[in-house]
Amino acid sequence: MQQPDLDISVVIPLLNEEESLPELTQWISRVMQMHGYSYEIILVDDGSTDHSWRVIQDLSAVEPAIKAIRFNRNYGKSAALNVGFKETRGEVVITMDADLQDSPDEIPELYRMIKEQEYDLVSGWKKKRFDPLSKTIPTKLFNGVTRRISRIPLHDFNCGLKAYDQRVVKSIDVYGEMHRYIPVIAKWNGFKNIGEKVVQHRERQYGTTKFGLERFVYGFLDLLSITFVSRFKKRPMHFFGTMGTLSFLIGFFITIWLIGDKVFNSFYLHQRTRDVVAQPLFFLALVALVIGVQLFLAGFLAEMISLTGSRKNEYLIRDQIGLLPTHV
Ligand code: UDP
Ligand code: MG
Repeated sequence: MQQPDLDISVVIPLLNEEESLPELTQWISRVMQMHGYSYEIILVDDGSTDHSWRVIQDLSAVEPAIKAIRFNRNYGKSAALNVGFKETRGEVVITMDADLQDSPDEIPELYRMIKEQEYDLVSGWKKKRFDPLSKTIPTKLFNGVTRRISRIPLHDFNCGLKAYDQRVVKSIDVYGEMHRYIPVIAKWNGFKNIGEKVVQHRERQYGTTKFGLERFVYGFLDLLSITFVSRFKKRPMHFFGTMGTLSFLIGFFITIWLIGDKVFNSFYLHQRTRDVVAQPLFFLALVALVIGVQLFLAGFLAEMISLTGSRKNEYLIRDQIGLLPTHV
Protein backbone atom coordinates (compact mmCIF):
# COMPACT_ATOMS: atom_id res chain seq x y z
CA MET A 1 0.00 0.00 0.00
CA GLN A 2 1.21 3.50 -0.87
CA GLN A 3 2.11 5.77 2.04
CA PRO A 4 0.45 9.18 1.72
CA ASP A 5 3.05 11.66 0.52
CA LEU A 6 0.83 14.21 -1.19
CA ASP A 7 -1.80 16.56 0.19
CA ILE A 8 -4.61 15.63 -2.17
CA SER A 9 -5.53 12.90 -4.64
CA VAL A 10 -8.44 13.62 -6.94
CA VAL A 11 -10.08 10.50 -8.35
CA ILE A 12 -12.26 10.94 -11.41
CA PRO A 13 -14.21 8.07 -12.99
CA LEU A 14 -15.19 8.80 -16.54
CA LEU A 15 -17.09 7.29 -19.41
CA ASN A 16 -17.11 9.11 -22.72
CA GLU A 17 -16.31 12.58 -21.42
CA GLU A 18 -13.80 13.73 -24.04
CA GLU A 19 -15.16 17.28 -24.23
CA SER A 20 -15.03 18.01 -20.51
CA LEU A 21 -11.61 16.60 -19.63
CA PRO A 22 -9.31 19.45 -20.72
CA GLU A 23 -11.32 22.14 -18.93
CA LEU A 24 -11.81 19.97 -15.86
CA THR A 25 -8.16 19.01 -15.36
CA GLN A 26 -6.91 22.54 -16.02
CA TRP A 27 -9.38 23.92 -13.53
CA ILE A 28 -8.31 21.42 -10.87
CA SER A 29 -4.62 22.20 -11.43
CA ARG A 30 -5.34 25.91 -11.19
CA VAL A 31 -7.11 25.53 -7.84
CA MET A 32 -4.38 23.27 -6.47
CA GLN A 33 -1.55 25.56 -7.48
CA MET A 34 -3.33 28.61 -6.16
CA HIS A 35 -3.50 27.00 -2.70
CA GLY A 36 -0.06 25.42 -2.90
CA TYR A 37 -1.22 21.83 -2.46
CA SER A 38 0.83 18.90 -3.65
CA TYR A 39 -1.60 16.78 -5.64
CA GLU A 40 -2.31 14.12 -8.20
CA ILE A 41 -5.27 13.67 -10.53
CA ILE A 42 -6.17 10.04 -11.13
CA LEU A 43 -8.39 9.61 -14.15
CA VAL A 44 -10.06 6.23 -14.52
CA ASP A 45 -11.35 5.64 -18.02
CA ASP A 46 -14.18 3.20 -17.54
CA GLY A 47 -14.13 1.76 -21.06
CA SER A 48 -14.90 4.91 -23.02
CA THR A 49 -15.69 4.43 -26.69
CA ASP A 50 -14.99 8.04 -27.70
CA HIS A 51 -11.58 9.74 -27.72
CA SER A 52 -11.34 10.18 -23.95
CA TRP A 53 -8.16 8.11 -23.67
CA ARG A 54 -6.49 10.07 -26.44
CA VAL A 55 -7.38 13.29 -24.69
CA ILE A 56 -6.01 11.92 -21.42
CA GLN A 57 -2.73 10.96 -23.07
CA ASP A 58 -2.34 14.46 -24.47
CA LEU A 59 -3.23 16.11 -21.17
CA SER A 60 -0.83 13.95 -19.15
CA ALA A 61 1.99 14.98 -21.45
CA VAL A 62 1.69 18.57 -20.27
CA GLU A 63 0.44 18.04 -16.70
CA PRO A 64 2.63 15.57 -14.76
CA ALA A 65 0.11 15.37 -11.90
CA ILE A 66 -2.24 13.44 -14.18
CA LYS A 67 -2.19 9.69 -13.80
CA ALA A 68 -4.59 7.45 -15.57
CA ILE A 69 -5.98 3.95 -15.75
CA ARG A 70 -7.91 2.60 -18.69
CA PHE A 71 -10.28 -0.33 -18.27
CA ASN A 72 -10.56 -2.88 -21.00
CA ARG A 73 -14.32 -2.45 -20.98
CA ASN A 74 -17.04 -0.64 -19.06
CA TYR A 75 -17.17 -1.97 -15.50
CA GLY A 76 -19.20 0.84 -13.92
CA LYS A 77 -18.51 3.85 -11.75
CA SER A 78 -17.97 1.83 -8.57
CA ALA A 79 -15.28 -0.30 -10.16
CA ALA A 80 -13.56 2.81 -11.50
CA LEU A 81 -13.58 4.43 -8.07
CA ASN A 82 -12.38 1.25 -6.44
CA VAL A 83 -9.36 0.92 -8.68
CA GLY A 84 -8.62 4.64 -8.45
CA PHE A 85 -8.75 4.50 -4.65
CA LYS A 86 -6.11 1.78 -4.57
CA GLU A 87 -3.65 4.09 -6.32
CA THR A 88 -4.15 7.22 -4.24
CA ARG A 89 -1.19 8.72 -2.40
CA GLY A 90 -2.87 11.82 -1.00
CA GLU A 91 -3.69 12.36 2.67
CA VAL A 92 -7.08 13.55 1.53
CA VAL A 93 -8.87 11.90 -1.36
CA ILE A 94 -11.47 13.81 -3.35
CA THR A 95 -13.79 12.17 -5.86
CA MET A 96 -15.63 14.11 -8.50
CA ASP A 97 -17.55 13.48 -11.70
CA ALA A 98 -15.88 14.20 -15.00
CA ASP A 99 -18.80 16.04 -16.54
CA LEU A 100 -18.08 19.46 -14.99
CA GLN A 101 -21.25 19.26 -12.90
CA ASP A 102 -19.07 19.44 -9.78
CA SER A 103 -16.88 22.47 -9.27
CA PRO A 104 -13.17 22.08 -8.39
CA ASP A 105 -13.49 25.33 -6.44
CA GLU A 106 -15.01 23.27 -3.61
CA ILE A 107 -11.77 21.34 -3.09
CA PRO A 108 -10.00 23.68 -0.61
CA GLU A 109 -12.96 23.79 1.76
CA LEU A 110 -13.45 20.02 1.57
CA TYR A 111 -9.74 19.54 2.28
CA ARG A 112 -9.98 21.86 5.26
CA MET A 113 -12.97 19.99 6.69
CA ILE A 114 -11.09 16.68 6.57
CA LYS A 115 -7.81 18.05 7.90
CA GLU A 116 -8.99 20.56 10.47
CA GLN A 117 -12.45 19.43 11.50
CA GLU A 118 -11.29 15.83 11.43
CA TYR A 119 -14.14 14.41 9.44
CA ASP A 120 -13.55 10.93 8.05
CA LEU A 121 -15.75 11.68 5.09
CA VAL A 122 -17.48 14.78 3.77
CA SER A 123 -20.23 14.35 1.21
CA GLY A 124 -21.33 17.06 -1.17
CA TRP A 125 -24.96 18.10 -1.09
CA LYS A 126 -26.38 19.40 -4.35
CA LYS A 127 -28.99 21.48 -2.59
CA LYS A 128 -29.98 23.27 -5.74
CA ARG A 129 -29.92 20.78 -8.57
CA PHE A 130 -29.89 21.28 -12.27
CA ASP A 131 -31.33 17.97 -13.32
CA PRO A 132 -34.69 17.04 -14.87
CA LEU A 133 -37.62 16.23 -12.53
CA SER A 134 -37.57 12.58 -13.62
CA LYS A 135 -34.28 12.37 -11.78
CA THR A 136 -34.78 14.61 -8.77
CA ILE A 137 -37.97 12.91 -7.52
CA PRO A 138 -36.62 9.32 -7.44
CA THR A 139 -33.42 10.72 -5.94
CA LYS A 140 -35.37 12.24 -3.03
CA LEU A 141 -37.00 8.89 -2.42
CA PHE A 142 -33.69 7.07 -2.61
CA ASN A 143 -32.06 9.46 -0.17
CA GLY A 144 -34.95 9.14 2.26
CA VAL A 145 -34.80 5.35 2.29
CA THR A 146 -31.03 5.24 2.61
CA ARG A 147 -31.07 7.82 5.38
CA ARG A 148 -33.58 5.78 7.32
CA ILE A 149 -31.87 2.44 6.89
CA SER A 150 -28.34 3.66 7.49
CA ARG A 151 -29.19 6.31 10.10
CA ILE A 152 -26.67 8.65 8.50
CA PRO A 153 -28.19 12.14 8.27
CA LEU A 154 -27.02 12.96 4.74
CA HIS A 155 -29.24 14.65 2.17
CA ASP A 156 -27.47 13.55 -0.96
CA PHE A 157 -25.77 10.16 -0.80
CA ASN A 158 -25.17 9.95 -4.53
CA CYS A 159 -23.25 13.21 -4.92
CA GLY A 160 -20.12 12.51 -6.97
CA LEU A 161 -18.18 15.16 -5.09
CA LYS A 162 -16.89 13.75 -1.82
CA ALA A 163 -13.79 14.02 0.29
CA TYR A 164 -12.23 11.29 2.36
CA ASP A 165 -9.50 10.74 4.83
CA GLN A 166 -7.01 8.43 3.14
CA ARG A 167 -7.72 5.65 5.68
CA VAL A 168 -11.36 5.50 4.59
CA VAL A 169 -10.75 4.88 0.89
CA LYS A 170 -8.17 2.23 1.64
CA SER A 171 -10.64 0.39 3.82
CA ILE A 172 -13.51 0.09 1.38
CA ASP A 173 -14.20 -2.10 -1.60
CA VAL A 174 -17.00 -1.00 -3.89
CA TYR A 175 -18.46 -2.83 -6.85
CA GLY A 176 -21.78 -3.01 -8.71
CA GLU A 177 -23.72 0.17 -8.01
CA MET A 178 -22.38 0.56 -4.51
CA HIS A 179 -20.64 3.89 -4.99
CA ARG A 180 -23.93 5.43 -3.84
CA TYR A 181 -23.47 3.85 -0.45
CA ILE A 182 -19.87 4.66 0.28
CA PRO A 183 -20.89 6.67 3.38
CA VAL A 184 -22.84 3.64 4.59
CA ILE A 185 -19.90 1.30 4.01
CA ALA A 186 -17.55 3.77 5.69
CA LYS A 187 -19.82 3.90 8.71
CA TRP A 188 -19.92 0.12 8.93
CA ASN A 189 -16.14 0.15 8.87
CA GLY A 190 -16.11 2.40 11.90
CA PHE A 191 -15.62 5.79 10.22
CA LYS A 192 -18.55 7.51 11.87
CA ASN A 193 -17.49 11.11 11.61
CA ILE A 194 -19.42 11.89 8.44
CA GLY A 195 -20.03 15.47 7.38
CA GLU A 196 -21.86 17.30 4.67
CA LYS A 197 -21.16 20.39 2.64
CA VAL A 198 -23.55 22.22 0.35
CA VAL A 199 -21.93 22.34 -3.07
CA GLN A 200 -22.62 24.13 -6.31
CA HIS A 201 -24.20 21.97 -8.95
CA ARG A 202 -24.08 22.89 -12.59
CA GLU A 203 -25.87 21.67 -15.63
CA ARG A 204 -24.15 19.05 -17.71
CA GLN A 205 -22.19 20.96 -20.34
CA TYR A 206 -21.33 18.20 -22.77
CA GLY A 207 -22.48 14.66 -23.48
CA THR A 208 -25.36 12.93 -21.71
CA THR A 209 -25.98 11.22 -18.39
CA LYS A 210 -24.62 7.70 -18.19
CA PHE A 211 -27.30 6.38 -15.87
CA GLY A 212 -30.92 5.52 -16.62
CA LEU A 213 -33.82 4.62 -14.34
CA GLU A 214 -32.42 1.13 -13.74
CA ARG A 215 -30.03 2.82 -11.33
CA PHE A 216 -32.76 2.87 -8.70
CA VAL A 217 -33.57 -0.82 -8.97
CA TYR A 218 -29.93 -1.88 -8.80
CA GLY A 219 -29.27 0.72 -6.18
CA PHE A 220 -31.99 -0.66 -3.93
CA LEU A 221 -30.78 -4.23 -4.31
CA ASP A 222 -27.26 -3.07 -3.51
CA LEU A 223 -28.53 -1.38 -0.36
CA LEU A 224 -30.04 -4.69 0.74
CA SER A 225 -26.83 -6.57 0.14
CA ILE A 226 -24.74 -3.89 1.81
CA THR A 227 -26.87 -3.92 4.93
CA PHE A 228 -26.92 -7.67 4.96
CA VAL A 229 -23.32 -8.32 4.01
CA SER A 230 -21.83 -5.75 6.35
CA ARG A 231 -23.86 -7.06 9.23
CA PHE A 232 -23.25 -10.74 8.69
CA LYS A 233 -20.24 -11.07 6.43
CA LYS A 234 -17.87 -11.97 9.19
CA ARG A 235 -20.39 -14.23 10.91
CA PRO A 236 -23.03 -15.57 8.51
CA MET A 237 -23.77 -18.39 10.89
CA HIS A 238 -25.18 -15.92 13.40
CA PHE A 239 -27.95 -15.01 11.00
CA PHE A 240 -28.64 -18.32 9.28
CA GLY A 241 -27.96 -20.34 12.38
CA THR A 242 -30.46 -18.34 14.47
CA MET A 243 -33.19 -18.51 11.86
CA GLY A 244 -32.48 -22.17 11.19
CA THR A 245 -32.50 -23.15 14.84
CA LEU A 246 -35.71 -21.23 15.41
CA SER A 247 -37.45 -22.91 12.52
CA PHE A 248 -36.13 -26.30 13.54
CA LEU A 249 -37.33 -25.86 17.11
CA ILE A 250 -40.82 -24.87 15.96
CA GLY A 251 -40.98 -28.02 13.83
CA PHE A 252 -39.55 -30.11 16.62
CA PHE A 253 -42.04 -29.01 19.26
CA ILE A 254 -45.01 -29.46 16.96
CA THR A 255 -43.80 -32.97 16.23
CA ILE A 256 -43.48 -33.71 19.94
CA TRP A 257 -46.98 -32.38 20.46
CA LEU A 258 -48.37 -34.54 17.64
CA ILE A 259 -46.65 -37.62 19.04
CA GLY A 260 -47.94 -36.81 22.50
CA ASP A 261 -51.40 -36.40 21.07
CA LYS A 262 -51.17 -39.81 19.57
CA VAL A 263 -49.76 -41.57 22.64
CA PHE A 264 -51.90 -39.97 25.33
CA ASN A 265 -55.14 -39.30 23.49
CA SER A 266 -54.82 -42.15 20.99
CA PHE A 267 -55.64 -39.84 18.11
CA TYR A 268 -54.29 -40.72 14.74
CA LEU A 269 -53.67 -38.45 11.82
CA HIS A 270 -56.32 -40.17 9.75
CA GLN A 271 -59.03 -39.78 12.35
CA ARG A 272 -61.42 -37.29 11.00
CA THR A 273 -62.24 -35.32 14.15
CA ARG A 274 -58.67 -34.26 14.74
CA ASP A 275 -57.77 -33.90 11.08
CA VAL A 276 -58.64 -30.26 11.02
CA VAL A 277 -55.91 -29.41 13.49
CA ALA A 278 -53.47 -32.27 13.26
CA GLN A 279 -53.04 -32.49 9.55
CA PRO A 280 -52.05 -28.87 8.92
CA LEU A 281 -49.86 -29.04 12.00
CA PHE A 282 -48.16 -32.11 10.65
CA PHE A 283 -47.27 -30.33 7.41
CA LEU A 284 -46.23 -27.22 9.26
CA ALA A 285 -43.84 -29.26 11.36
CA LEU A 286 -42.45 -30.92 8.28
CA VAL A 287 -41.83 -27.65 6.46
CA ALA A 288 -40.36 -25.98 9.54
CA LEU A 289 -37.92 -28.85 10.06
CA VAL A 290 -36.78 -28.84 6.44
CA ILE A 291 -36.39 -25.06 6.29
CA GLY A 292 -34.52 -25.14 9.57
CA VAL A 293 -31.98 -27.62 8.27
CA GLN A 294 -31.66 -25.69 4.98
CA LEU A 295 -30.94 -22.40 6.72
CA PHE A 296 -28.44 -24.07 8.97
CA LEU A 297 -26.65 -25.51 5.95
CA ALA A 298 -26.72 -22.14 4.17
CA GLY A 299 -25.06 -20.57 7.19
CA PHE A 300 -22.46 -23.27 7.23
CA LEU A 301 -21.64 -22.82 3.53
CA ALA A 302 -21.55 -19.04 3.87
CA GLU A 303 -19.16 -19.42 6.76
CA MET A 304 -16.81 -21.50 4.62
CA ILE A 305 -17.04 -19.09 1.68
CA SER A 306 -16.27 -16.10 3.88
CA LEU A 307 -13.16 -17.95 5.01
CA THR A 308 -11.83 -18.37 1.49
CA GLY A 309 -12.76 -14.78 0.56
CA SER A 310 -14.22 -13.47 -2.66
CA ARG A 311 -12.38 -12.43 -5.78
CA LYS A 312 -14.89 -10.12 -7.35
CA ASN A 313 -12.70 -7.03 -7.53
CA GLU A 314 -10.48 -7.94 -10.39
CA TYR A 315 -10.79 -5.72 -13.39
CA LEU A 316 -8.94 -6.02 -16.63
CA ILE A 317 -6.84 -2.95 -17.25
CA ARG A 318 -5.77 -2.08 -20.75
CA ASP A 319 -3.41 0.81 -20.23
CA GLN A 320 -2.15 3.22 -17.62
CA ILE A 321 -0.16 6.41 -17.27
CA GLY A 322 2.17 7.49 -14.46
CA LEU A 323 1.46 4.53 -12.16
CA LEU A 324 3.51 1.51 -11.18
CA PRO A 325 2.63 -1.35 -13.53
CA THR A 326 0.91 -3.39 -10.87
CA HIS A 327 -2.17 -4.14 -12.92
CA VAL A 328 -1.13 -4.46 -16.55
N1 UDP B 1 -19.34 7.06 -15.17
C1 UDP B 1 -18.41 6.02 -15.22
N2 UDP B 1 -18.84 4.78 -15.59
C2 UDP B 1 -20.15 4.50 -15.88
C3 UDP B 1 -21.08 5.56 -15.78
C4 UDP B 1 -20.65 6.82 -15.42
O1 UDP B 1 -17.23 6.23 -14.97
O2 UDP B 1 -20.47 3.35 -16.18
C5 UDP B 1 -18.89 8.42 -14.77
C6 UDP B 1 -19.32 9.52 -15.71
O3 UDP B 1 -18.43 9.68 -16.78
C7 UDP B 1 -19.29 10.72 -14.77
C8 UDP B 1 -19.74 10.12 -13.44
O4 UDP B 1 -19.50 8.72 -13.54
O5 UDP B 1 -17.99 11.22 -14.62
C9 UDP B 1 -21.20 10.41 -13.16
O6 UDP B 1 -21.98 10.03 -14.25
P1 UDP B 1 -23.16 10.94 -14.83
O7 UDP B 1 -22.75 12.37 -14.84
O8 UDP B 1 -23.61 10.36 -16.11
O9 UDP B 1 -24.27 10.70 -13.73
P2 UDP B 1 -25.32 11.79 -13.22
O10 UDP B 1 -24.59 13.07 -12.96
O11 UDP B 1 -26.32 11.91 -14.33
O12 UDP B 1 -25.87 11.17 -11.98
MG1 MG C 1 -23.37 14.12 -14.02
